[in-house]
Amino acid sequence: MSVRKIDQKEAEDFFIVINQYCEQNDGNRWPHATIVLSAVDSNLEGPTSHNVYYNESRGRHAESFFIDDLQTLLQKEGVTEITATLVQNYSPCNANHNDIERCADKILKFMKDNIEKKNVSFSLTIQFANFYKCYYKKEDEKWKKSPHINGLVKLRKNGVALQLLKGEEGWNDFFNKFVDVSDEDKTRLRERAALRIDRENVDEIILNYVETKASAEAKVEEHVAEANVQDVTDKLEKMTTKDEW
Ligand SMILES: [Zn+2]
Repeated sequence: MSVRKIDQKEAEDFFIVINQYCEQNDGNRWPHATIVLSAVDSNLEGPTSHNVYYNESRGRHAESFFIDDLQTLLQKEGVTEITATLVQNYSPCNANHNDIERCADKILKFMKDNIEKKNVSFSLTIQFANFYKCYYKKEDEKWKKSPHINGLVKLRKNGVALQLLKGEEGWNDFFNKFVDVSDEDKTRLRERAALRIDRENVDEIILNYVETKASAEAKVEEHVAEANVQDVTDKLEKMTTKDEW
């Protein structure tokens, strides 16, 4: 089955952004929309399903259309297992001017309300080329408070794998799989992607922060849950031994 691909210009303008967010991008504006490429497998027979999703102009975000398709798959008879990989130009958002589209929350809500309830085993990996609205500065830690970064922490904490689309191998793989481009133009895209090395190192720092924070928060929550159980057990013990029934 053929994979739906994006064109060379979309790869260049939306994915291969050279500078960090908010820094001058070669005179180009930062992309104002998200493109999501998906690869979905399930226990049902059939080839991997591939799709490309775009934002609705001033409306729903690309991720939300992916969730619609996931819902359709979930309603099929006999689905017990779903594995999905998304490749996006931006990481999922978690706040918005009208506060309707918060993709990180939307994904998590869908996992909880729909997938978990149906007892379907689900694995989701989100790979992205650029952090959405993350103004990283080494000497200023404000970026750590970004709602979008915290949305990623929430996703990670709930088992969603996060990966950066980066490095020679990563970009090569991306061009081969998802971009409809001639060999000659592929070389040009490769050269452009290689200019991102510095910012990709910075992205690595941001992702490490997300991973570390997610695992620290998960540990704290586990302790709190354990403490509560212990608390109840202690109380019950006291009640039973002191005849306080
Ligand atoms: Zn969004």
